[in-house]
Amino acid sequence: MVVDVNLLPLPSNGQTPVRVLTIAGTDSGGGAGIQADTRTMAMCGVHACVAVAAVTVQNSVGVSGFHEIPPQVVADQVRCVVGDIGIGAVKTGMLASTAIIEAVADVCREVGIGKNGTIPLVVDPVAASMHGDPLLHTEALDALRHTLIPLATVVTPNLDEVRLLTGVDVEDDDAARHAARELHKLGAQWAIVKGGHLRSSQVSTDLLYDGTDFLEFTAPRIATGNDHGGGDTLAAAIACAIANGYPVPAAVEFAKDWTYHCLSAAYDLGAGHGPVSPLWRLHES
Ligand code: PLP
Repeated sequence: MVVDVNLLPLPSNGQTPVRVLTIAGTDSGGGAGIQADTRTMAMCGVHACVAVAAVTVQNSVGVSGFHEIPPQVVADQVRCVVGDIGIGAVKTGMLASTAIIEAVADVCREVGIGKNGTIPLVVDPVAASMHGDPLLHTEALDALRHTLIPLATVVTPNLDEVRLLTGVDVEDDDAARHAARELHKLGAQWAIVKGGHLRSSQVSTDLLYDGTDFLEFTAPRIATGNDHGGGDTLAAAIACAIANGYPVPAAVEFAKDWTYHCLSAAYDLGAGHGPVSPLWRLHES
């Protein structure tokens, strides 16, 4: 494997690593959600803190159900970790319901997480699994739009989530720019429109927009059905890079490269879609 990714530094033994908090759902199959986040964070040399928002029942074939954590318990996990451990960036993933999204937005404002605070916030607005199984109650889209995304340093929807959030169907570059403008209007400092699900192209291009300039990040498209957890991995890697001091465009460049390598190392698992894998880093010297 040719590796040109600008790797984040690994801490030396006994050295306290940079800390990143993920607020998200668990995946019993170990491929996406909190499990994808913590795998990428560990392989990026980052200590992962976790606020569980939902427990999913899922395997490689699909999600058969989920159980929501009481909103106050989600907020308490965030408050207690930020107050003690010190967090360099926060990433949100599956938040399931309006009540959880509002509790997360409230605690973010309270402890200084988000674009107006001191701790950058990466919002991955997870709505459904790659199998089409819901991970968010439909009515909770409004809470994402109006309470959480306005706090985001970066928002990272895939094309299905872009359509749900903005109504824009992205089928070409012009529509991607239009969608990025609409997402930015929701209040995020930076909006990413991920092209990974635009199957027609030979490359996968992600568009980053800050209200003024468009930046494009491109990687070769990898033809694999084993891409479970890819979106979580990208957003988690962005959070790791930001926590290491990268400006947002450099963090996205790093995360795109990181995710490309994780896709290259994806493996078969079960009867359905296998996960992307950050374990490739173990083989680098
Ligand atoms: N399960 C959980 C808990 C998730 O957070 C996510 C995505 O963010 C998924 C499943 C879906 O991952 P994928 O779309 O890669 O199947």
